[in-house]
Amino acid sequence: MTKIDMIENLEAVKARMAKAAAEAERPADAASLTVVSKTFPADRIEPVLAAGHRAFGENRVQEAQGKWPALKETYPDAHLHLIGSLQTNKAVDAVALFDVIEVLDREKLARALAKAMDTADRRPDLFVQVNTGEEAQKGGVPPGEAVTFANWCKDELNLPVIGMMAIPPAEDVPAPHFALTAKLAAEAGLPEVSMGMSGDYDVAVQMGATHVRVGSAIFGARG
Ligand SMILES: *Cc1c(COP(=O)(O)O)cnc(C)c1O
Repeated sequence: MTKIDMIENLEAVKARMAKAAAEAERPADAASLTVVSKTFPADRIEPVLAAGHRAFGENRVQEAQGKWPALKETYPDAHLHLIGSLQTNKAVDAVALFDVIEVLDREKLARALAKAMDTADRRPDLFVQVNTGEEAQKGGVPPGEAVTFANWCKDELNLPVIGMMAIPPAEDVPAPHFALTAKLAAEAGLPEVSMGMSGDYDVAVQMGATHVRVGSAIFGARG
């Protein structure tokens, strides 16, 4: 994948998002793009920053700590989303580096994030991750508990929860999972919905996503 291909891919993804939004009679900018740069080194990410894109997703705190401080020196307004599971003992590091944490899914982590935010005086936006397929190996709150959990995080811990996030089971048709995620966010009064990846981001935009997370459609396959 050359730099030129990556930028062409970025533009194609954005165009397809706008088309999907129009088809659903949503505004063209209804959903924003988080470019998922996990596994790719800084020299692959830099051209996307140079092209003007600012929102990126990483799934590991340690990997992001290795790449992003240097990139942020050149691009201080780069906006980082944590989209992979977060261990409680990494909450302090995550709060220090990330602007959005999309994987809030349990009480212990909520308490650790609240404490880390108070200490750091830095308050990244949070998404509650919902395990819509109720998969044992996947993080996320069961759908039946998601609204109660989001309300508890906001009311009891005063956490800046702004949305819900989901990763549908790979083998399922994604639309029902997207519909459920959007419905739960609305029930909790949360404006943001993070859903849709390279294979299905257009469907997600049609179904109410405000954030899609796209990696391989831009960077090519991960190694
Ligand atoms: C890797 C990942 C993505 C991006 O997946 P692609 O299929 O490469 O677009 C999106 N969301 C999460 C949570 C991921 O881990």
